Amino acid sequence: MGRVIQSNHPLIQHKLTLLRDKDTEPKKFRELIREVAILLTYEATADLKLTDIPVTTPLAETTGKELAEKIGLVPILRAGLGMVEGVWELMPAAEVWHIGLYRDHRTLEPVEYYNKLPVSPTVQVCLILDPMLATGGSVEATINILKRWGAKRIKVVAVIAAPEGIRRVTAAHPDVDIHVAVIDDHLTPEPTRPDDPPPGYIVPGLGDAGDRQFGTG
Ligand code: URA
Repeated sequence: MGRVIQSNHPLIQHKLTLLRDKDTEPKKFRELIREVAILLTYEATADLKLTDIPVTTPLAETTGKELAEKIGLVPILRAGLGMVEGVWELMPAAEVWHIGLYRDHRTLEPVEYYNKLPVSPTVQVCLILDPMLATGGSVEATINILKRWGAKRIKVVAVIAAPEGIRRVTAAHPDVDIHVAVIDDHLTPEPTRPDDPPPGYIVPGLGDAGDRQFGTG
């Protein structure tokens, strides 16, 4: 059974508050996304398998450890891009496989526009990187793609999740662990007045994670 793990780490919670602040500039916002991604991934990878290997120190021969599993980082374009670099520094041997999905603003369902996965899987563990787990549609679709590809162990690393997204992903993929900094309150509903926010945004959230990283919107 997959687990939903909400981090209570003080560093993550402190940085999350800075991310939420509407006055945080894109440069600082990108740094924070990178740092929170590293901290969440550190927790999400605590159960990676190791094998023993011999190592010679300046003083003696001993037994060390190396990662036994090959890891794939799967950022969902475009907001997931900002989570890649820091995580990749932690595990430079990881492969990075981009998945491009956009959310149809009418149906709120994901539409795939980029996927260059090779025919058969090249990694044992996939970490899906997406800062906002909102409706859960993009993450569910990405897990479907990875499972069809043959991925066996999949984890999701997201900064903020909505209860609706958590429910959708855990119902469709109960075997997948979800690591988040926080689970927020709800999603914005369909607008009824011209000045209402668009639907499917996390409240309180942090706004549009793509726009805030890339200075657009
Ligand atoms: N995507 C975002 O960037 N923000 C949200 O609140 C929901 C989806």
